[in-house]
Amino acid sequence: MNLDGIGVTSRRTRERLIAQLRGKGIRNANVLDVMRATPRHIFIDEAFSHLSYEDIPVNIGYKQTISQPYVVARMTEAVLDAGPLQRVLEIGTGCGYQTAIIAALAEEVYSIERIRPLHDKAMANLETLELKNVHLIHGDGSLGYPDKSPYDAIIVTAAPLGIPNELLAQLAQNGRLVIPVGGTAGQELRLITRKKDQFVSRLLDHVRFVPLLKGQVKY
Ligand code: SAH
Repeated sequence: MNLDGIGVTSRRTRERLIAQLRGKGIRNANVLDVMRATPRHIFIDEAFSHLSYEDIPVNIGYKQTISQPYVVARMTEAVLDAGPLQRVLEIGTGCGYQTAIIAALAEEVYSIERIRPLHDKAMANLETLELKNVHLIHGDGSLGYPDKSPYDAIIVTAAPLGIPNELLAQLAQNGRLVIPVGGTAGQELRLITRKKDQFVSRLLDHVRFVPLLKGQVKY
């Protein structure tokens, strides 16, 4: 990650966020280090920049949000638990924050976004950080992205009402899927691990994501 010319945010502000993540139960030192090193303010519009290092989701336009840092940390920690990750798929790039975090911890990351202007924005943000192992795709990821499967991990950052079988089929052996499941009132964050053709599901948390929508949008 190249941080030249990105501007500094006071160390104290970032350390406060890291302390909050620890306080909420994030333990993985690699995840905490990457969250500390990644400038969240470059993903957020100037008007909301004062919220960049608060542990809250922030509006990014098009009725979408940049995820809450705690939720990004929790999802990242959950998929990392099983060891090193080679190929990861993210569904719902948004402005690319979770993409940047997981890209620092995996070999190759594919991330798909259905709203073109957000896909373009993420592309610019990730170029600023000079992340070379990220491949962004514009399209509908509600059924995954079979072209590059199988994946060691799939991170879904928008909520379907149920878990699509197509996503399970795109997991490698011992692969992990982390996904919020449920309606707009709130969802269960689930971790599914593939063991041969068995899928073990565990409840991680209660969360609130935007819905995983189907199909392309006009822009
Ligand atoms: N990962 C982002 C979260 C963005 S919010 C972050 O780190 O902040 C979720 C995103 O999922 C939105 O940008 C939304 O447009 C996108 N999304 C919703 N349904 C989708 C679909 N079927 N395919 C791809 N992206 C989708």
